[in-house]
Amino acid sequence: MTQDQEAVRGAFWADEEASLLSPDRAHVIRDSKTPSGSVPISGLRGPIITDALYRTFKKHRLDVRYVFTIDDYDPMDSASMKQKAGMAEQMGKPLCAIPSPDPSASDFARYHAERYLATFAVLGIRPQEIHWMRELYRSGQLDTQIDLALRNAAKIREIYERIANVRHSDRWLPVAVICENCGRLGTTEAYDYDGKTVAYDCRPDFVEWAEGCGHTGRRSPFKGGAKLYWNLQWCAMWDHFHVTYEEGGKDLLTEGGSRDRSNAIYREVWKKDPPFGLIHEFLNVGGKKMSTSRPDEWKALGAEAHEFVKIYPPYLIRFLMLRTHPKRHIDFDPTGNNLPKLWDEYDRCGDAYLVDRETDLAKTWSLSQVEEEHGAPGWRVRFSIVADWLQIPSVEPLREAEERKGEPLTPAEGDELRRRIALAKVWLERWAPDEAKFSVRPTMPDVTLSPQQRRYLAAVREVVGKITEPEAMQNELYEVAKRVGLVNDDGKPSRDAFASIYLAFLGKPNGPKAGWLIATLDPEFVRRRLDEASDAMAHA
Ligand SMILES: [Zn+2]
Repeated sequence: MTQDQEAVRGAFWADEEASLLSPDRAHVIRDSKTPSGSVPISGLRGPIITDALYRTFKKHRLDVRYVFTIDDYDPMDSASMKQKAGMAEQMGKPLCAIPSPDPSASDFARYHAERYLATFAVLGIRPQEIHWMRELYRSGQLDTQIDLALRNAAKIREIYERIANVRHSDRWLPVAVICENCGRLGTTEAYDYDGKTVAYDCRPDFVEWAEGCGHTGRRSPFKGGAKLYWNLQWCAMWDHFHVTYEEGGKDLLTEGGSRDRSNAIYREVWKKDPPFGLIHEFLNVGGKKMSTSRPDEWKALGAEAHEFVKIYPPYLIRFLMLRTHPKRHIDFDPTGNNLPKLWDEYDRCGDAYLVDRETDLAKTWSLSQVEEEHGAPGWRVRFSIVADWLQIPSVEPLREAEERKGEPLTPAEGDELRRRIALAKVWLERWAPDEAKFSVRPTMPDVTLSPQQRRYLAAVREVVGKITEPEAMQNELYEVAKRVGLVNDDGKPSRDAFASIYLAFLGKPNGPKAGWLIATLDPEFVRRRLDEASDAMAHA
């Protein structure tokens, strides 16, 4: 491909992002998560994109560090949580100060953060550093950032009004103080910074989602005494970790939204250039936008992140998130034939990797692998065929695969097959369409066959046991149709030919590849069934 053609086609999206970063300096790519409850699979799109970018930046020989923060000093503000038993009392407290729903963790934030981070390990997402906001605040590491924000409160108020049309009172300060009486920070209003302390009121009516205790006091905002509001905390993170790249979801990064405010504040208060970072689109499941405020809905779809990684192979989840450009939205729906299509696309990208590793498809396949250093794709069986195999009790998939391959599977190929078998079982049980499901009837189904179809089945009977290879059998089934004249006007075998086989064995007019079905089932059984179908039904 010439350079011109390359330019017309456009670079792979991750390479495009890498080209924004100067090779002459050190880079930090950052991502974060607020552990406020269960995470839907849409919450994995950002981290998988960030990880793919991190890997790509390294391939471009950029000096890059990957930092992840757990925003566990945020107040509990989730409306759905408020409905849960005992949670109303916790509203407005820092997530790290709320009891864990389960004795396995020390607190609410750790419980949810650890479940979320466990999915990272499975998916091959490996930040070099994970920081907890409670530790950054309490250790005083962010004190200079807090002081800077408080001294520039007037300028920050002006930026909020200019960029987002949000007006704060003239005494408003950009911190949430932790109330010394009730421990909440979502309910306090801070004012009057004297360089060491701020005054605050813990107000019952400050926010709708939590009720303050009415306490009024004065305390140091440092060493964990207060938390920066979200836009300011963002700037503090960029400065503290020297962040040069941070992507984010569309909800936060739209015009006039959070990111624009933070960018302006970073330029005007911190006097620094904000990081680069693309905006990724939403991921919908079953046509519905995943909203963390309606967890019951996505739980029903099997779309909780920590459940999702138990059902799907990790490389297929990475592939699902990476095969679509981050700027386009993803519609994920496991029903119908969508899963077999997703697997076929994955295999197509694997094939591309075998031919030329510099194509977009090959790069997508490579970035979908759990291990950064990985081999080429091995021999594999199409997902839809694995699903067919599972529906015939006499078929042992591993043996069937080795017969097809003509030699034993490598350990990696065996693992791959087992992954496909496991997901195909779930798919058949929960999501597969009726036409993908079948069972070989133990006795002749009550179906009507035409005289021509019966002649066809009688002729097929003659080759059973003589041809054992599925592809050869498939060809022979075509030839037999021509021989008995079961053809269309153009001379090609009629649909009625294959339909008669499915009717005789499955009791319905469609099914898996007929050649495979005939070659795979026990020859004695097949001959007996074909005898019955071609003969007995003649008198029906
Ligand atoms: Zn209070």
